[in-house]
Amino acid sequence: MVSKVPPSQIIIRPPVEAHSVLIAVTGGCSWNRCRFCGTYKGIYGTIQDYAIIPLEDVLKEIDYYAEKNYHRYPVFLAGGNPTSAPTEYLVKIIRYVRLRLKNVPRVSSYAKALDLLRKTDEELKQLAEAGLDIVYMGLESGSSKILRIMKKGTNAESMIKAGKKALNSGIKLSLYVMLGLGGKKYSEDHVKGTARVLTEINPTIFRFRTLNILPNTPLWKEWKNGEFELLSPVECLKEERDIIENLGENVNSQVFNDHISNYCSIETPNIKEDREIFIKTLDSYINDPRIKNLPRKNLISM
Ligand code: SF4
Repeated sequence: MVSKVPPSQIIIRPPVEAHSVLIAVTGGCSWNRCRFCGTYKGIYGTIQDYAIIPLEDVLKEIDYYAEKNYHRYPVFLAGGNPTSAPTEYLVKIIRYVRLRLKNVPRVSSYAKALDLLRKTDEELKQLAEAGLDIVYMGLESGSSKILRIMKKGTNAESMIKAGKKALNSGIKLSLYVMLGLGGKKYSEDHVKGTARVLTEINPTIFRFRTLNILPNTPLWKEWKNGEFELLSPVECLKEERDIIENLGENVNSQVFNDHISNYCSIETPNIKEDREIFIKTLDSYINDPRIKNLPRKNLISM
């Protein structure tokens, strides 16, 4: 049975924020149309409408953590896309976090490209000055064709503009790239488009995720009908390899594979310096008979 829950009760966070103080700011996702995403469409047995949590409730939550001495932890402002909320509201929350919790090493949140584009440069600077250190944005693919098919609501050029805007305002940027999102049909578009967008933006960090198709998503039916073909583990690794190989010389991002959906876990603090070894390592995976024979896993809970 699928039930509806209030905004504070589905808290999705990046793995890197596992030990952070999680403060719900928005609930649900203001877009909620991506064809591959089941987060707010019932996958956890619950659905959640988009909502901005009242300011006084968020401040009370921060007071709670302050009273319990949750100092020195990173703080993640939770919710599908907190940057959809008004800037003034977010600035008050971030300042209050910095006031009530001592020595917070990082304040972060998810951000949707369109939300960043709707804010002025001045507003993004206000968020950075208040103490928002980094935003995690789902690029998913740099191919406009794939973004359109998957109903991401943003094309490659808007992703580039949004990414540059965040970085220019002083907010660090971590992008997610979803391996296999173009299926077999658009794998080449996916590689070329994604390498191009990453090169244009040169984000602080980019992180790989592998597409898994969840039962409550529109993509599930297409996959079951045979209209969408999942990539094999080796094909996913090849996409990653080719994205790295096609990056421009300027890209010096950190790269992580910090997700259970991936078939390798290699990382680098600087892809410019480690590009060759990164590709060599991926090649060793790709040519490993054990990986070649690995069945494709499709995780339906993560
Ligand atoms: S992928 Fe992100 S933007 Fe798309 S529906 Fe899911 S939470 Fe919303």
